[in-house]
Amino acid sequence: MTPEAFRQAGHELIDWIADYRARIPALPVRAQVEPGAIRHALPTQPPQQAEAFSRVLADLDTIVVPGVTQVQHPMHYGWFPSNAALASVLGDIASSGMGTLGISWESCPALTEVEEVTCDWLRQLTGLSDRWHGTIHDTASTACVTALILAREKASHFSKNNSGLQALSAPLIVYSTRQAHSSIAKAVQLAGFGNDNLRFIDEDPYTRALIPEALAAAIKADRAAGLIPAGIVCSVGATGTTAMDPVAAIADIAQAEDIWLHVDAAMAGSAMLLPECRHLWEGVEQADSLSWNPHKWLGTILDTALFYVRDVAHLERVMSTNPAYLRSTADGQVTQYRDWGIPLGRRFRALKLWFHLRLDGPDAIRQRLRQDLANARWFSAQVEAAADWDVLAPVELQTVCIRHTPKDDAGNALAGDALDKHTLDWVNQINQSGAAFMSPSMLDGRWMVRVSIGVESTEREHVERLWGLLQEAVA
Ligand SMILES: *Cc1c(COP(=O)(O)O)cnc(C)c1O
Repeated sequence: MTPEAFRQAGHELIDWIADYRARIPALPVRAQVEPGAIRHALPTQPPQQAEAFSRVLADLDTIVVPGVTQVQHPMHYGWFPSNAALASVLGDIASSGMGTLGISWESCPALTEVEEVTCDWLRQLTGLSDRWHGTIHDTASTACVTALILAREKASHFSKNNSGLQALSAPLIVYSTRQAHSSIAKAVQLAGFGNDNLRFIDEDPYTRALIPEALAAAIKADRAAGLIPAGIVCSVGATGTTAMDPVAAIADIAQAEDIWLHVDAAMAGSAMLLPECRHLWEGVEQADSLSWNPHKWLGTILDTALFYVRDVAHLERVMSTNPAYLRSTADGQVTQYRDWGIPLGRRFRALKLWFHLRLDGPDAIRQRLRQDLANARWFSAQVEAAADWDVLAPVELQTVCIRHTPKDDAGNALAGDALDKHTLDWVNQINQSGAAFMSPSMLDGRWMVRVSIGVESTEREHVERLWGLLQEAVA
């Protein structure tokens, strides 16, 4: 494709995207397709000849869009807000259009230095001290694997430089809670610790926050048994109920025991743009690494996961390889992001953040976050006040965990499997209708429904409409 042909097709595509975004509210929230439907609509053989752009664009409408669950829809309350602010989309297009290669500072100095600066802007916007240095990963999952490798290499005195974990005299142990995101258990497996060496520490039965005394006792018991405590993963906004582990108390233990502390704030990190929310991660300055996803609530399009460390020298010592063909005269004066994580080649991801922050501006973003918090409080108050409805966990941010428990004529509340069936029935009915979408999830072995508020286009009227749908569904 020549630049001239690109210009023409590109204008059409931008028009298509703008029209598409405008009509999202009229589309069903959940994709209304059966498994395999999209695959069957596509040719099984690859194209033999070049096709016209108009045909590709037409297939986007007829084949692809019906297979999209509309997470930008104002009635999307599933999983977490996966906002894709159009300002950040422009940055993504600019990044792709330039076709840069990030394998060293030399291969694209701007890629490295815009990333350094935007990570530092986000550091300032979230109230972190200048002892933190950041980079952009694809996801929080990758950031957590990286953090646990840093923990592993600290506790094992750089086992990677000799025979790895296989030569250690005792297993390395990682501590977290059952509320922690599934990516934590995956990272524990992939970083070589193994499931048996992941300790789920007791939580408060209501807030679901880690109990520091239980953590200290578990570390003590492991040391007494000759094991090697290596890492703690603390959740600021755990996935199920947005549980907030007490970072300061955990950091005290991590420091006293000299154990790597990683803070997973993937979802809740966005809230730290608001000074009034920062008490939720008080003590974060004492952690060793921290990750959060602007690609969730903040709204910088996927994939934008921030990863910060305080000890860059340790990070580089663990991650660098420095082959001869990548050395340059600038070494020593510049950041080589290939030595900050697992991949060698990187995209110019920072442009998404750069465009987003400059075009939308932090003030407007903060205002939207505050509106979402107010909507969550309003919704939670309606549920609390209604007969037979319960809010099951503290509403720390924008996620409200709810259940409806009807009573029979004798006044006995529905329980057990019958209650589970009732919950799944009403939530599936709404989800299947396409009118709204929420995520059913388990709490203490029973189904409940998570209502995650925070899509960029969700206003109070949409949350009111949701509350109406819920009441109709159980009536
Ligand atoms: C979403 C989430 C993750 C995983 O994020 P990815 O970027 O999809 O890997 C991890 N931890 C928490 C608390 C999350 O909310």
